[in-house]
Amino acid sequence: MTHVFHRNPRQHLDFAMRGQGIELFDQNGKGYIDASGGAAVSCLGHGHPVVIQAIKDQLDRIAYAHSSFFTTQAAEDLADFLAERAPGDLDHVYFLSGGSEAVEAALKLARQYFVETGQPARRHFIARRQSYHGNTLGALAIGGNAWRREPFLPLLVPAHHVAPCYAYRDQLPGESEEQYAERLAQELEQKILELGAGNVAAFVAETVVGATAGALAPVKTYWRRMREVCDRHGVLLILDEVMSGMGRSGHLFACAEDDVVPDIIAIAKGLGAGYQPIGAMLASGRIYDAIVAGSGFFQHGHTYMGHATACAAALAVQEVIERDHLLANVLARGEQLRGELRSALGQHRNVGDIRGRGLFVGVEFVQDRAGKAALDPAQKTHARLKTQAMHNGLLMYPMGGTIDGVRGDHVLLAPPFICTDADISE
Ligand code: PLP
Repeated sequence: MTHVFHRNPRQHLDFAMRGQGIELFDQNGKGYIDASGGAAVSCLGHGHPVVIQAIKDQLDRIAYAHSSFFTTQAAEDLADFLAERAPGDLDHVYFLSGGSEAVEAALKLARQYFVETGQPARRHFIARRQSYHGNTLGALAIGGNAWRREPFLPLLVPAHHVAPCYAYRDQLPGESEEQYAERLAQELEQKILELGAGNVAAFVAETVVGATAGALAPVKTYWRRMREVCDRHGVLLILDEVMSGMGRSGHLFACAEDDVVPDIIAIAKGLGAGYQPIGAMLASGRIYDAIVAGSGFFQHGHTYMGHATACAAALAVQEVIERDHLLANVLARGEQLRGELRSALGQHRNVGDIRGRGLFVGVEFVQDRAGKAALDPAQKTHARLKTQAMHNGLLMYPMGGTIDGVRGDHVLLAPPFICTDADISE
């Protein structure tokens, strides 16, 4: 009997005993290609000596100091690294221990910003139906994933949702990408006006949708249009790059490709690449300055925020990615992966769409290519795919069931940035 309260207590789990490069090994010595980096986390693969050494060195100096007493060199250096590379003036880095915490902090910062600047009526958040922003109550409240939200609805503040940018399903025949983006921007604007522009705090969205729609990137002008609507009504734009950021898309920040600068951005997963739990929220000068000039205190915080060892690990991860030019590999290997998937599966009757950016790749499954109907959730195709893939020595991240009630019928592939041409083919 196990005393670990696993998230799915009825599921049999093997032991992960060791990891090396793109592979994990279980207690029987069987190897698995980690083609999803867990949940798009392990972007440097496993057992990277530079990161391990950085963690050891940090532990030798100091493992942890509480952020209300001290800062640490590791936190300062990592914040400098991120701020220097972030788009626009997202210069103020607030460290957390994961993605949900980063989103939660972003929601609270947006709200506090409006309280401090004399707009206390701004309290509503608008997000999108195809979205996941985390499992803590605030992040869950804004997310669109009905299945995850359902049991907790009485505990969640009401949130407001608009359509995602889902060209494969929602772009109309004869509609250009620009027209489609414009239609979605109008929907956001209508929602803002419906709620009363002076009551809306922020629009929150994943730059590229991850778990609920399988690496779903927007059409080209989408983010520019959405930003314009937010600006017109004084609504903040919060981008959640917990999954799509930190190089996964081929750019350190995914939004760089969309020519848009949010007011707040949330990152995690690839930041520490699984070597330590760490997330962060980057805020613009306007927001930071308002807090400093106002109460002078962001009313938030966690015991482990800015954890020195986690910061040292994340800095080493990011320095290796830059030193080894791994983002160029992300772009090249991503193209290769989509190309090989299209050759092998593109005409399969149950494969509707193969998509993504960089090494953030989704395959959407359908009952038939023409009808695009989602697979029957009762068949648990995703669970069977995962089991069969593991049997064959492959880890990938499947989601199953409904499309508009949001869960998606797809697998997500997010291999480590170090993977080679041959790894992708295998
Ligand atoms: N936001 C997005 C886009 C995510 O994909 C996730 C996790 O999958 C989260 C937030 C929550 O992150 P965490 O599981 O680290 O709390």
